[in-house]
Amino acid sequence: MNFKTLNRIILSLLLVGAFFSAFNYISPWLIIGFIIGYLSFILIISTNVQLDFFLKAFHNNPFEEDGRIALTFDDGPVENTLKILEVLDKYHVKASFFCIGKNIEQNPEIFKLILEKGHFIGNHTWSHTRKMGFISSEKMVEEIKKCDEICYRIGGVRPATFRPPFGIINPKTKRALDITRHKVIGWNVRSYDAIISSENMILRRIIRKIKPGDVILLHDTNKLTVEILEQLLLFLRSNNYRPVRVDNLFNIDAYY
Ligand SMILES: [Zn+2]
Repeated sequence: MNFKTLNRIILSLLLVGAFFSAFNYISPWLIIGFIIGYLSFILIISTNVQLDFFLKAFHNNPFEEDGRIALTFDDGPVENTLKILEVLDKYHVKASFFCIGKNIEQNPEIFKLILEKGHFIGNHTWSHTRKMGFISSEKMVEEIKKCDEICYRIGGVRPATFRPPFGIINPKTKRALDITRHKVIGWNVRSYDAIISSENMILRRIIRKIKPGDVILLHDTNKLTVEILEQLLLFLRSNNYRPVRVDNLFNIDAYY
């Protein structure tokens, strides 16, 4: 069932409910509860890219047998990205960076370095605005295209993949992606490195959950991530995991 049909059914049920409530057949609280419940449902399906409600995204590769996993870094490039790159170099690991257009404009040399070192680049919108859940599909298309353009202008690549800021995929994002044709890359292991302030806790969260084919979400904007990354790479190495770029893990094209 598509989202429009679902909304029509819900609206019809509400009208019927309001009618019966007006004649005291049912309590108005039942209707209020129903509305709150439905709004909560919308909030959950829109902010969890993992649920694949509006579109199918790549979250992990459950068929992976070879111990390959993907480390992904969101929200750069920033100064701290340089430290992340150093650690990745030290362990000869290739990773994936979902970059914000504005940050590429501010740090073009760091962006070029990510590419020169053979890492993967994906689109993470132009502005990463906190209002992402409320913008129109036209504005969303603009956000995605503007980020693509700067990737091409600075690095000569046009990303074929997109990662939604805050994991938000709603009907407007879906409409925008129908136009831009980007594949969506989600994740299935979230480190909460942007929220939790204890390195040990973040590392334990990742290690406890990890299995072959996983996609781990990290942030190169967070200073703690540098330390966590080194520990994580040591763990992966001693447990025969092999970090690869997301395009390798899913066998898809990185760029157009
Ligand atoms: Zn982000």
